[in-house]
Amino acid sequence: MSAHDSVPVLRDTLGRPLASLRVSVTDRCNLRCLYCMPEEEYVWLPREELLSFEELAQLVAVFTELGVGEVRLTGGEPLVRHNLDRLVGMLAANAHVRDLALTTNGVLLAEQAEGLRQAGLHRVTVSLDTLRPERFQAMTRRDDHARVLAGIDAAHRAGFTKTKLDTVVMRGRNDDELADMIEFGRGRGIEVRFIEYMDVAGATRWSSAEVVSRDQMLEQLSRRYGQITPVVEDSSAPAARFLLPDGTVFGIIASTTAPFCRRCDRSRLTADGMWYRCLYATQGTDLRGPLRAGASGAALAAQIGDAWRARDDRGAELRKAERFRRAFVGLEELRRDPHLEMHTRGG
Ligand code: SAM
Repeated sequence: MSAHDSVPVLRDTLGRPLASLRVSVTDRCNLRCLYCMPEEEYVWLPREELLSFEELAQLVAVFTELGVGEVRLTGGEPLVRHNLDRLVGMLAANAHVRDLALTTNGVLLAEQAEGLRQAGLHRVTVSLDTLRPERFQAMTRRDDHARVLAGIDAAHRAGFTKTKLDTVVMRGRNDDELADMIEFGRGRGIEVRFIEYMDVAGATRWSSAEVVSRDQMLEQLSRRYGQITPVVEDSSAPAARFLLPDGTVFGIIASTTAPFCRRCDRSRLTADGMWYRCLYATQGTDLRGPLRAGASGAALAAQIGDAWRARDDRGAELRKAERFRRAFVGLEELRRDPHLEMHTRGG
C-alpha cells in the first residue's frame, strides 16, 4: 500500500514507487551559485505560463491521490515566489501529504520562517556551502551570508525541528570545511548532508577534477573524528547516513560516484507544469496543457499513471558509466530549452 492505505502503490519498470514529488514554484533565484547558475544571462520561463497556486495544488492533489505522500517545495529559490505561505497552507490542508518540506538557500528565510510554520510547513532544508562570508560571496556571487545564518536561526525560533543543511562540496572551494559544517550543525541540532558536485544541467563548468567523492569525504572526516560508522537503514532518501563516535549523524549524497537511481521514488514538477521523472531526463510531460484545457483529475491521473508505469530512468547511473565525463548539457541547448536547467526543474 502507498502513503495512504486506500491506494495501491504505483510502480515503474524497476519496481520503484511513485512516492515523492518536488514542486519547483519558480525558476528565479536570488543567488548565482557556481555549480548551478554560473552564467550571467538566463532564459526565464514566461510568466503567463507559470501555474497559479490553485493550479499547483490541483496537480499536487492528483499526485497524492496516486500515492505521493512527500512533497518538497523547491526552485529556483522558492522564497522569491510571493506569498508562498498561501501555497503551503493549501498543501498542508491536503490530508495525504505526510511530509511537506521546503528546500531554500535561506536568504529570505528570516522574514518568512514564522509565516511558513504557521501555514503548516513541516520541515526546512537550508542549502549552505560555507561558513566563511568571503567564500560565500565567491561561490554564490552575492553578499548574503549573514542573511542565511539569520534565516537558520529564525527557522529554529519559529519552531522548525529536523532542519537539515545541504552542502555541495567542491574541490579547492570548500572541501576543507567539512568538519566545520558538522560542528555548526551539531551546535544547532541540525543534520548536515554533503552533496557531491553533480554534472546536472546548469553545471556547465563541471569537471570531474572538482568532485570530492564520498570516499574522500569519509577519509577526511575520519582523520578528524576517528571511526565513522554507516547507519544501516532501509530508506529511499538520497543521503547515506553516518555516525561519528560521539553519536552525531551526518549524510552524504553521492549522486556522482554512487548514484541511488535504483531507489529513486521522486519526480519533479516545474513551475510551468512540466513533469520530469529523472533529474537528468531531457523529456518531460506537459501537465499544464491538459489542466488548462479542463482535463479531469481522473484523466490527469491516468496520464501520470501511464508515464510512471513506463518509467525506466536512471540518469545518474548512466552518467556514471560515461567514459569521458563532462558537463551534461551545453549552453546553447540550455538556452533553447530552459527546462533542462537545475534551477527550473528543482534540485
Ligand atoms: N534555491 C534552493 C536551494 O538553494 O536549496 C532550491 C533549489 S537548489 C537547485 C536545490 C539544491 O540543489 C541545492 O542544495 C543546491 O546546492 C543543489 N545543487 C544545484 N546544483 C548542483 C550541482 N551541480 N551539484 C550538486 N548539487 C547541486
